[in-house]
Amino acid sequence: MRLCRFNSDRLGVVVGDEVVDVTATLDGEAPIRPWPIAPGDWLIANIDRLRPVLEAAANGGGERHKLTDVALLAPVANPTKIIGAPVNFYSHHAEASADKALNFGAEVKTIHDYGLFLKANTSLAGPSEGIELIMPERRHDHEGEMVVVIGRRCRSVSEAEALDYVAGYTMGIDMTARGTEDRSLRKSLDTYSMVGPYFVTADEIADPDKLDLKLWVNDELRQDSNTDKLIFSTRKLIAYASDFYTLYPGDIIMTGTPSGVGRVLAGDEVRLEIEGLGTLVTRGRVREGVGARDAA
Ligand code: MN
Repeated sequence: MRLCRFNSDRLGVVVGDEVVDVTATLDGEAPIRPWPIAPGDWLIANIDRLRPVLEAAANGGGERHKLTDVALLAPVANPTKIIGAPVNFYSHHAEASADKALNFGAEVKTIHDYGLFLKANTSLAGPSEGIELIMPERRHDHEGEMVVVIGRRCRSVSEAEALDYVAGYTMGIDMTARGTEDRSLRKSLDTYSMVGPYFVTADEIADPDKLDLKLWVNDELRQDSNTDKLIFSTRKLIAYASDFYTLYPGDIIMTGTPSGVGRVLAGDEVRLEIEGLGTLVTRGRVREGVGARDAA
């Protein structure tokens, strides 16, 4: 099953190239107590229970739209955290080591040394929102990545059981402003965790560690690899992260990017495709007002 969030927080089941609006199925289902809410994404936490209702609604009379006609938002609305995997492909390690515009004179290590990082939840955005570029003198680079969505609360799970805690998958662009500041600044700008186009339940993906990944900017192929080249596999990332952080339903793990990272400018179309997960299309745009202040 494939789920998207679109327009003004509508819930859709994606069927072929169409979206069926199933928002009404949530009436009477969603919690009404506003505070304190349980940590995690309520929809993802309840996905197994809701699935038959959602699937029935998708085959029913819900309003249908072309997927390309709706404004897609991030398919997971309320993660407790967005976890990043720093330098998790050797091909990206090689290019970052060779390019001063990426390494700023510092030795580049891999995930073995860097561990993990967190991205602010306010950086989460969907394709229709575009990538908001500030600091125009900087390089702002795309990092196309496969994304894991956690389904159940867990701590210290083993690699062997890690996938049991996955609700499904999607993909994302871990946008990065190049510079010397900490990752938690440079990768956490608003819209810098671009996720979509929809969420795919885990049963549709036989092996997350064997998926082709391609990213284009304005039809120029920039990144072309496969998740079988991850340094820390999906299973290892989940197990490793769960040793440090309790993982909750809806938590997002961006699994790392291969070589080919490059600049996104205002007006550029960025297109990411990962096998079985669809196509994410978004655009760079200038954040009004901030560029002028930055230049002053
Ligand atoms: Mn990344």
